[in-house]
Amino acid sequence: MLGRMAEPRWWHFRRAQNLKPATYRCPLCGRQLPALSEHMLLFPEGDRTRRRHAHTECVMKARKAGRLPTREEWLKTQPRPPSVWQRVMARVKRRDSA
Ligand SMILES: [Zn+2]
Repeated sequence: MLGRMAEPRWWHFRRAQNLKPATYRCPLCGRQLPALSEHMLLFPEGDRTRRRHAHTECVMKARKAGRLPTREEWLKTQPRPPSVWQRVMARVKRRDSA
């Protein structure tokens, strides 16, 4: 689907506004996609140079299936670094026990 590239962890996508009469191939279904039809742009991890054109309905279907997470959705699955407050408290605790 994305060739040899690693699967992106998250995607940015938006409605495409294309006035170029080109034909793309949708990476989600593999079918052709006329640029002038209503479709969406996918940016793997926000990378504009690797953007792909995809059918709006394919994006919606993939989203419903839990694929194509947004950056916010991906971040929620990641362990958070300790907050400044937690680090300060850890330091205070260490000093107390010394
Ligand atoms: Zn498609």
